[in-house]
Amino acid sequence: MSGFNGAKYCWMNGSVVATDRALVSAMEPIHLGIFEGIKAYLEGDLGGRGYQNIFAWSQHVNRLFRSAQVNGLVIPYSKDQLLEAVKTTIKVNEFTGNVYIQPRIWPKAGIPRNMQPESHVVIPTWEMSTILGVGNPNYKKQRRFNVSSWRRIATDALPPQAKSWANYGNSGLAERESKRLGFDGAILLDNRGYVSESTGACIMLVKDGTVVTPPVTASILESVTRDYLLKYLPLDIEIPTEIRDLTRLDLYACEEAFLCGTGGEVTPITSIDDIKLGDNYPGPITTRIHEYYSRVVSGDIEKRRNWLTPV
Ligand code: PMP
Repeated sequence: MSGFNGAKYCWMNGSVVATDRALVSAMEPIHLGIFEGIKAYLEGDLGGRGYQNIFAWSQHVNRLFRSAQVNGLVIPYSKDQLLEAVKTTIKVNEFTGNVYIQPRIWPKAGIPRNMQPESHVVIPTWEMSTILGVGNPNYKKQRRFNVSSWRRIATDALPPQAKSWANYGNSGLAERESKRLGFDGAILLDNRGYVSESTGACIMLVKDGTVVTPPVTASILESVTRDYLLKYLPLDIEIPTEIRDLTRLDLYACEEAFLCGTGGEVTPITSIDDIKLGDNYPGPITTRIHEYYSRVVSGDIEKRRNWLTPV
């Protein structure tokens, strides 16, 4: 079993169980939960050396603990124990392709909200193909985005910096609106009217050859991929980066736009509100970043191998 049903086995509260046997009571307050989205690259299609690595493990697990702290959850395992759990889950499922790993943590039923809750920890995984790699046809697909009429949740209502399930109600509204209107995805503005992010990824624009992206204070998730690119694009491939508030005009008048995130990696956007961006699609800078990121996750760049954790 794979895809939407998840892999055959998951990890639940300390042991490996069949995913369709990972049962909990209907009274569980799962809506108070948090999660993380991590990717392991197990395929040989990004360089052919049969590498098997999790990308940015420590950044993801650190964010998981931050999300827990904000939501008053106690994770009853150490970061090392969670890493072992993830490795075990990947091994027992005998994956042949890339894997999405989604640790989910929520308070156990029946414990009053104002007490230190005991938590469930469940780690489902499923195969997730990549759009990375030179010549990958999925990379070049047309992607028409719109600016959503839904605003991104305000930092003083539900902190978007934490990865709480509650935040994704907002994403779902925007996704459904985009679909209804015939678009492929949404970009949300924050409650001030500045550009925030997409529904499951951060947004980056190319302006005058510089990659620009909104600050964390623009109601975005503290994205691991965004942080990585901001730091290493200038150092490794001499593309300058800048963090600043962006307006709707910046969206319409940029040279290129792409999403970045663990699942979507580096995903180019063709148009925003049907305003076509740049002369060529995907744009040349987006393509350089896409190729660079392919090399990073496949271990091709020796000095960045410390971002990879062998499975
Ligand atoms: N924003 C949102 C709302 C997301 O769900 C994600 C995916 N986790 C991102 C941004 C990208 O974050 P990351 O690079 O850490 O995957």
